[in-house]
This record gives sequence, C-alpha cells and structure tokens, in this order.
Amino acid sequence: MTSDQWEKVKLEIMNDTSRANFKNWIEPLKFREVEEDVAIFNVSTSFLGEYVSNNFGDLILRKIKGFEPKLKRINFKVVSNVWEEHSEKTSKSDVSAEAPSHKTQKARPVSNPLDESFTFDRFVVGKPNELAYAAARRVSEGGPAIFNPLFLYGGVGLGKTHLMHAIAWELISRKEDRNVVYLSAEQFMYRFVQALRGDSVMDFKETFRSVDVLMVDDVQFIAGKDSTQDEFFYTFNSLVANSKQIIISADRDPGEIENLEDRIKSRLQYGLVVDLHPTDFELRLGILQSKADQKAAEYPNVRIADGVFEFMAHRISTNVRVLEGALTRLYAFASLVGREVNLDLAKDCLADILRRSERKISIEEIQRLVVDYYNISISNLIGPSRERIYARPRQIAMYLCKQLTSRSMPEIGRRFGGRDHTTVLHGVRRIEALRINDAQVAEDLEILRRSLEG
Ligand code: ADP
Ligand code: MG
Repeated sequence: MTSDQWEKVKLEIMNDTSRANFKNWIEPLKFREVEEDVAIFNVSTSFLGEYVSNNFGDLILRKIKGFEPKLKRINFKVVSNVWEEHSEKTSKSDVSAEAPSHKTQKARPVSNPLDESFTFDRFVVGKPNELAYAAARRVSEGGPAIFNPLFLYGGVGLGKTHLMHAIAWELISRKEDRNVVYLSAEQFMYRFVQALRGDSVMDFKETFRSVDVLMVDDVQFIAGKDSTQDEFFYTFNSLVANSKQIIISADRDPGEIENLEDRIKSRLQYGLVVDLHPTDFELRLGILQSKADQKAAEYPNVRIADGVFEFMAHRISTNVRVLEGALTRLYAFASLVGREVNLDLAKDCLADILRRSERKISIEEIQRLVVDYYNISISNLIGPSRERIYARPRQIAMYLCKQLTSRSMPEIGRRFGGRDHTTVLHGVRRIEALRINDAQVAEDLEILRRSLEG
C-alpha cells in the first residue's frame, strides 16, 4: 500500500463512520510503511494507537484489504512523543558508541482513554456551569498557560470529567502532536508506586517532563499518601516552571481536601479555581433535550409526550449521570412499547429512579419552616403550651411530618417534646378535618408543602 492508497482508504472510511470519529481517530493516522503483512501507521501518542486499534481496527483492516488483500494486520508506531524521539536518537548514537541507554520506555505516561462523547459540543452550558465552561474553553485554546493550574471542582456527576476530556480533545485537534496526558489521581498513584517497586523513579520523573498538558482527575483521592503527594508536588512544580498547563479536578475546594499537605493546597489555589454548581431545572431540561436529540438517530420511532422531560428535570436529582440513566431507560422502554410515552408511562418506567432521587425531608426542616412561617419559636412549637397560636402550628407541623417523611407517629411524638403517639394522631386528624373546612389552613398547608418540596 502507498500513501496515496491510504488517502483513498480514508475516504471510504469517512463514509462509514461519524464525522467526529473520523476527525478524532482516522485523520490523525499517518501511513508509514508496510512490513510483510502489516500496515504500519505513525501516531502521536500510544493512547491514540490503542484506541484506534480497539475501536476501528477491524474497519480499517477491512478497507485496506480492498486495496491490498495480503495485509493481515495493522500496527502503530508512536513518533512525535518527545520521550520516544529522544530514545530513538540515543539508540542511533549508540551505534557510534559510549553509554548504552538504559532508558527504556517502561514508565512513559500513557493517558487514560478519553471518552469520545465528552466533547465541548456535547456539553450543555447553563448558569451553574458557565464559569467552569468558559475557563475550560480558554485553556483548550492552548495558548500560554494563564490559569495554572486550572482547578475544577464540584459534586459527583456535574461534568468535571466531561470538561477535562473536552479540553484534551480540543487541544489535540488544534495540535495533534501535543502530548496531553489525562490521568485519574489513582492512576497517577498507581504508576508512581509501580515506579517505586521497579526502582524506576527517575524514569517516572523523566517521563512526566515530556508532557505538554497534564490533567489529574479526582485529586481528592491522592490525599493521605505522603510519598505520592511529594511526587505529585514535584511533578506539578516542574511542569509549572516550564509553563506547561495543568488541569486538576476534585470533588471539593482545594482548601477542604483533608490530608492534603498545606503547601499543595496553597499551590493548587494559586491558579484559577472554579466550581461547578449543582444543576438547576433549566440546565437539566437543556441536557435532557440535547441528549434526546442525540438519541433520535438511534431510536427514530420513539415519541415522548410534551411535559415528560420537564417532569424529569423537576424530579430527578442534580447528578447528570442519574438523569442520563433515566433518559436511556426511557428510550429503551419507549422503543419496546411502540407508542408515545406519556407522563404516566414515564412515571411507571422510572419509578425506582424517581423514588431514589426524592429529596428526603427531615422533621427538623419541617419544624424550622413552620416556626418561621408562623413567627413563633422552636421552644414554643415543641413546648407544653396549649395556646392556640402554638398548638395549631404544632399540629400542622406534625401533620406535615406524617405526610412528607417516613417517620412513625411515636417517633414524631418524641421529636415534639416527647409527646405520646396518640397526641400526634389526634393532631393529624384535626388538621385533616380543617384542611377541608378551613380555607386558611388549606392555604397554609399548600404553601408549606410547596416550599418543602422545593
Ligand atoms: P463528574 O466527573 O463531575 O463526576 P462527569 O463529567 O463524569 O461528572 O459527568 C457525568 C455524566 O453527565 C457524563 O455522562 C457527562 O457527559 C454528563 N454531563 C454532565 N454535565 C453535563 C452537561 N453540562 N452537558 C451534557 N452532559 C453533561
Ligand atoms: Mg469524574
């Protein structure tokens, strides 16, 4: 096969794969040579080679065989990795003599795989994440490292990993030989510990020097391991000193990561720290709509009634992963039932997810809200006074506890100044009756309930 033929093969592959896949995976491959029955390609990182081989290997081989049937395998050679170039050079100069290089490539930092769908164009931006998004975009331009490190933090499932991968994709697409390394903190530790065991700590240090951009995800997991922290700190400082971009994520603010050395905390805060806030209704709805558009191709016959996404965005928690899970389930279900999925069907299908993401309302919360609402004190609410200005709010609060929590009557009684369960029962019955006959009580209950269910 020749380079020209490879260009033709590429055109065929382009017709058989999505544009994003083609751009991310096929385009960056450079045909190198044929060795016996193997077609060899140059790639910029070994990750790229591994990924292409696992995901597109069969497709590529099939297409190549159309031109050159004798080919049986494809293989990849990492070339523009600084480290490898370096070792190629040393091995060449070895011919002419001295120090045999003992520097093998065993500790070359290999990026964890990047998720193909974690790109910027699939990231829905809303108030809770706009700052993090803007910062990520900026860093992905690959200019001089102005925010160093960029520290992204936020709760589970809010898009930290998605943003980091998106930065990596963008950086690679702008300059394909950029050595972008994305690692979970666990991977970082694992590699370091392996280097310690294999007595190759120098190699470990050396290899990280060839990195242009280092991303470490979920750095809260690095806490507590002294030697790894030292190594992390060292790596970190030497990269920053060389103006290499570093991007870190964690589930909380650097200052709040326990067991993290103070010098590291303050170092991490030195760049730009941005947080991803819990999603709000608007963002959740936007995400659902965007994911639904993506699903439309896969499920052309599925119809979802108006209002179903709104319902889901209201009821399913702030964790986007849970929301995605619900949507996937809904589509699979919808494709089976073969008719439009209305709200009732959706509720059935998602019952357990809805139940799990119900917000837990506590007795304290109800008590606090009720005393605020009626402008009385907690001690009056749970105290012995039978005056109506206290007794009525007390009964209302008990009623709400019975309705909105899973606490038993004896337990509710205990939390209202050690009252007997019959007192609670009496209060609940009283309010049930008033709710029907007393418009004011009905209105109060409605307002309180709404604000509790938020
Ligand atoms: P984290 O790393 O913060 O725990 P992830 O980045 O893994 O969260 O996100 C969890 C899932 O939710 C992923 O599938 C991701 O694509 C999706 N997700 C999170 N935020 C968004 C968003 N704003 N737009 C689209 N998808 C999102
Ligand atoms: Mg993550």
